[in-house]
Amino acid sequence: MANNILIVPEARDGSLRKVSFELVTVANEIAQGLGGAVHAVVLGNEVSASAEQIAKTGIAQVYQVDHAALQNFAPEVFTAALADVIRKTQPAVVLFGATGFGKELGARVAARIGMGLVADCTGYKVEGGTLVLTRPIYAGKALATVKAKSLPVMVSIRPNIFPPASADASPAPIEKIELSANAARSQVVEKVQKEAVAVDLAEAKIVVSGGRGAKNAEGFETVKQLANTLGAAVGASRAAVDAGWIDYSTQVGQTGKTVAPQLYIAAGISGAIQHLAGMSSSKVIVAVNKDPDAPIFKVADYGIVGDLFQVLPVMNEELKKVLAEK
Ligand SMILES: Cc1cc2nc3c(=O)[nH]c(=O)nc-3n(C[C@H](O)[C@H](O)[C@H](O)COP(=O)(O)OP(=O)(O)OC[C@H]3O[C@@H](n4cnc5c(N)ncnc54)[C@H](O)[C@@H]3O)c2cc1C
Repeated sequence: MANNILIVPEARDGSLRKVSFELVTVANEIAQGLGGAVHAVVLGNEVSASAEQIAKTGIAQVYQVDHAALQNFAPEVFTAALADVIRKTQPAVVLFGATGFGKELGARVAARIGMGLVADCTGYKVEGGTLVLTRPIYAGKALATVKAKSLPVMVSIRPNIFPPASADASPAPIEKIELSANAARSQVVEKVQKEAVAVDLAEAKIVVSGGRGAKNAEGFETVKQLANTLGAAVGASRAAVDAGWIDYSTQVGQTGKTVAPQLYIAAGISGAIQHLAGMSSSKVIVAVNKDPDAPIFKVADYGIVGDLFQVLPVMNEELKKVLAEK
């Protein structure tokens, strides 16, 4: 039997989240190693455009489960729908994003159909027919190597680690699958949009984060200004969030979001292990801190010892000039 890989792209508000295309990249390589094809299942309400988009990434087959009951993320309905597709298509590996959606859905589906689950992977390879995965453990202090002793297995992939596949290939066939049972036990009555953020933290290429060193909400504006110039997402340490200077949704770390941007700028953040857990996979880390012994400098690629209220405005002005020349 072919060792096919089934990816679970994330359709939201009429389009696919970037992690969906990163899953294609990972799936293609695993499929090569295991000798199978890449399939995708798009779940949601009126998700034809999303199904068509993922069909153009060079994969072999798309399944579309389209139903009004999948309009909002009702986990029990999505679980039933995905479990059905897995039973029908018998993939060797089910790949999804280690996002809020993927974490909730993956665990439920794994339990429902009795599959193993390797969560939040940042590396993978196929060795002699065995899938070998890497995942950070102990808040990012160590990397575990996990061998999938048997297939099928479910694997979640950390967003922003792997390059996204492009969607310009000739389209794969799309097969519509009926939702067999609408198992909704809860109903979303209302969705309240929080303060609109310019750039999604989890998917941002650049993140500028501030900590207790920003001193107060007004001081945090200095951090936001630099983020604005760079088109970056704003992040924060728990100290800044707990102080009420910025919304909890911006917290980076063990009890906040995990980010892996190309560039992470940490201003007035000491570098506690719980903060590092959420950002140490960033490609380039720049730290601005007035204490030369701050632990953040141990993980930083570039360190600036100085007062953020002096350093950030200069960076901001210089970057504006550079960007204006482009
Ligand atoms: C179970 C648990 C979970 C946690 N989860 C998280 C988490 O998800 N995310 C998280 O961030 N933390 C988390 N924490 C808290 C974490 O331990 C730290 O307390 C927190 O990260 C500290 O935030 P900070 O670096 O902003 O503050 P501090 O540790 O107080 O550091 C402030 C830094 O700013 C520097 N500074 C001060 N003034 C200036 C200035 N003018 N210019 C430049 N630098 C300046 C100081 O030198 C210092 O290094 C968690 C803790 C626990 C126990």
